[in-house]
Amino acid sequence: MTDQQIVPTVPAQGRRFRAYSAKHLDALTARAGLDEAERLAVRAVATVLPFRTNDYVLESLIDWAAAPDDPIYRLVFPQSDMLSPADVGPIADMLAREAPSREVQAAAHAVRMRLNPHPAGQLALNIPAVHEEPVPGIQHKYPETVLIFPKQGQTCHAYCTYCFRWAQFVDEPDLKMATDDMISVVGYLRAHPEVTSVLITGGDPMIMGSVVLRRYIEPLLNSGLDHIESIRIGTKSLAYWPQRFVTDPDADDTLRLFEEVAATGRNLAVMAHFSHPREIEPALVGEAVSRIRSAGGVIRTQAPLIRTINDEPGTWASMWRTQLRMGMVPYYMFVERDTGPQGYFAVPLARAAEIYRDAFSSVSGLCRTVRGPSMSATPGKVCIDGVAEVAGEKVFVLHMIQARDPSLVGRPFFARYDPEAVWLSDLQPAFASRFPFESMPAEPPGLWAEDLLLAAD
Ligand code: SF4
Repeated sequence: MTDQQIVPTVPAQGRRFRAYSAKHLDALTARAGLDEAERLAVRAVATVLPFRTNDYVLESLIDWAAAPDDPIYRLVFPQSDMLSPADVGPIADMLAREAPSREVQAAAHAVRMRLNPHPAGQLALNIPAVHEEPVPGIQHKYPETVLIFPKQGQTCHAYCTYCFRWAQFVDEPDLKMATDDMISVVGYLRAHPEVTSVLITGGDPMIMGSVVLRRYIEPLLNSGLDHIESIRIGTKSLAYWPQRFVTDPDADDTLRLFEEVAATGRNLAVMAHFSHPREIEPALVGEAVSRIRSAGGVIRTQAPLIRTINDEPGTWASMWRTQLRMGMVPYYMFVERDTGPQGYFAVPLARAAEIYRDAFSSVSGLCRTVRGPSMSATPGKVCIDGVAEVAGEKVFVLHMIQARDPSLVGRPFFARYDPEAVWLSDLQPAFASRFPFESMPAEPPGLWAEDLLLAAD
């Protein structure tokens, strides 16, 4: 795309972004038809977990006639039963008697600490160091990939109720990861030639204006970082605020930045989070997609499988088909992570495998670029391939898509079938006393030991 081609087809003075926060919640939930007690319980949940939405989501995506059961309503509005009544009740009582904010916040903090705010050992396990000094705000979990959490990108155009990064958005500084020190980040990357891919993530990096976004991307294009082959941007802006690429005042500048990345010969991948087919319907999304593609970006799509929002095979098949038609690449179906309101939104792994298979089998080969259902767990990304009977035992068949230990990637292993299991920690190994990612070197090898696998080839 040349400068002249970057001309918005919708006038740049289009709709301005307007956010709605917890203080608007009572009026908005009244619009959904909730009675006073339900609205109070929802407000109590929103003292623990973050709430934010915007006028585009409210007016263009939610079907208010179907609220509160509408999937997009459920995607952004807290539900009164997302947390246990034992947690919600006391906070609701405090709100009802207008208790001091300090008291409410203390109660909310206590609940948050029970919700595993940083799953997969994020704060402790993945922080890299230079000369034994930690480089905060980045993660290096897999050898080839570094994640950067830009300081100004730790919010989103709206928050998803099931968000696994919810701890980034609540008022608890100790739970946040972020950096604005690109000198240290570049120093780290220069010292690590094994890193080929950088993921800029959040929150949502596309919440940053183009000038700030440039401060994080431009240094990655400098000399000494030729080993960086791809720059990924994790974002839900195509769903929550597609104006970001079409009518926002800095939409054109953003696309020029994308062009500059592509011109260096690197892959610019927009990792787009779409939870439901309705998010792709507005014409503005199609325009945003074609502008990103014209600027040299590749859009790969991903989302978690969430009870009551997208837990039907047809929902996924429809998303993947539409995404393909629009020029996007279906990439991941994730399993809801072990944090926040997981108990409320989780789909059992056995059902997740069925939904994935039914959706996958009903789309063309071009859509079958997608992978999953995948758990982003502490040892890596664990994919549930399905349920099978092996040697007379019903088991889950699994493999690792990504692993801290690269030698484990792609190797099949087994877990005992458990119809209730929703996460890796619920599973027990089958045919061995440990999973391959559990290191207990003194133990006799399990079924996946290298020599046995080779023998089976
Ligand atoms: S867009 Fe992503 S980071 Fe933001 S609230 Fe949703 S899941 Fe969380």
